Amino acid sequence: MFDTLTQSFTSAIKKIRFHDDEKALSKALQELRKSLLKSDVNHKVVKTLISSVELKTKASGIGKDQFLDAMRSTIYELLQTKGNQGFVFAPNPPTVILMTGLQGSGKTTTTGKLALYLKNRKKKVLVVAADLQRLAAVEQLRQVCAGIEVELYADDESKNPVEVVKNAIAKADKALYDVVLIDTAGRLAIDDELMSELSQVKEAASPDEIFYVADALTGQDSVRTAQSFHDKIGIDGVILSKYDGDAKGGVALGIASQVHVPLRFIGSGEKMEDLEVFLPERIVNRLMGLGDIEGLAEKTASVIDEKTAKKMTQKIKKGKFNFNDFLEQMESIKKLGSMKSIMGMIPGMGNMSNAMKDMDLENSREIKVIKAMVGSMTKKEREDPDLLNGSRKQRIAKGCGLSQAEVNRMLKQFKNASKMAKKFSGKKGMKDLQNMMGQMQGGAGGFGKIPR
Ligand code: GDP
Repeated sequence: MFDTLTQSFTSAIKKIRFHDDEKALSKALQELRKSLLKSDVNHKVVKTLISSVELKTKASGIGKDQFLDAMRSTIYELLQTKGNQGFVFAPNPPTVILMTGLQGSGKTTTTGKLALYLKNRKKKVLVVAADLQRLAAVEQLRQVCAGIEVELYADDESKNPVEVVKNAIAKADKALYDVVLIDTAGRLAIDDELMSELSQVKEAASPDEIFYVADALTGQDSVRTAQSFHDKIGIDGVILSKYDGDAKGGVALGIASQVHVPLRFIGSGEKMEDLEVFLPERIVNRLMGLGDIEGLAEKTASVIDEKTAKKMTQKIKKGKFNFNDFLEQMESIKKLGSMKSIMGMIPGMGNMSNAMKDMDLENSREIKVIKAMVGSMTKKEREDPDLLNGSRKQRIAKGCGLSQAEVNRMLKQFKNASKMAKKFSGKKGMKDLQNMMGQMQGGAGGFGKIPR
């Protein structure tokens, strides 16, 4: 009985009074804003995101589910950028790709990953070592290619990347390669020399696409650097590396919505196999669920519950849950749609939930009887059931067509339910209530059998 009652209360608290509760929504939005900023999302993006979530939630009615849906679709929209997805082959092979990025971003590793990805799709791939700034870079690429058994084009004699690239493409043309992946020079930071070299290589290679490898771990820096690369040489896609680490979701959102370049792949580990095609829905799930924007969904959505729960528990705590609240809840619940377990949500009426499963609440006899009984009470009596003495009960019984014994029994049961709720709500009641949210199911307890 106790459990059922608390479950009923929690479910009621969970489900009712979402309508028009703008304060709860604005608190939820505040939480969302905080989490997004903490996750390294640019403040302008945050602003756009918040206002979109707000508009969408309001349009579909304020509630937890609507809020989550609004969040999901807004993030999805932000991540969706016009342009190609995954790897796109040129109409005439070879497809030439320029791999760009800062030193340490994972450019070499990612080039290897992409080569393996294509090799696994039966493509003939030539990797070109055009980062001639550091000897170690060529050597590293050589090892990577050896590991995945993909051919490397390197010219240890040459110091001229333009020349190397031209020769490599000539070879690829002649030997009918499907794809040429050119590993370009990386620096610790952007400088004019780097950009001028990249421009020359770009001109020599006339690539089908330029990929920029962005380190997900460097947060907003990655977004800014991607923007600079885009401004200076133009990029067609971004591969986000190290997304498996403590990467925050902000980078993905930032690149898509600030730089307006599509994310194409995601590096999710150090191994050569750890490359996934970027799919917005996958990232949305990740953003909404694990890791990145941790617990964001739960946290923000629970604010709505908390708000509603507080209001209700205050009343219950004070023993002020009266027949007016009862009627008000009935009205709110009516709007909820599914009749299933609705009775279980009304304090003390858990036992009726099974019987009433899919009944029409408005027209059910039981509800009519209860409503008639409450309708026969004066305003004061509804507010304070304690006022109900013998003569008042007699009057009510007459008014609603029940025997006085039946009215007595129903009033007693309402009082018991109310008492139980008050007891439960003491001290740590609020916490317990929240913990129990979600566990609700109908069951025994409460008003018992309604008189026929
Ligand atoms: P480059 O200087 O841009 O060529 O960077 P590297 O390819 O040498 O990568 C730098 C470091 O990042 C190496 O230790 C890589 O193993 C690591 N790395 C690259 N991509 C990923 C990734 O997706 N996940 C993880 N965890 N590490 C990565």
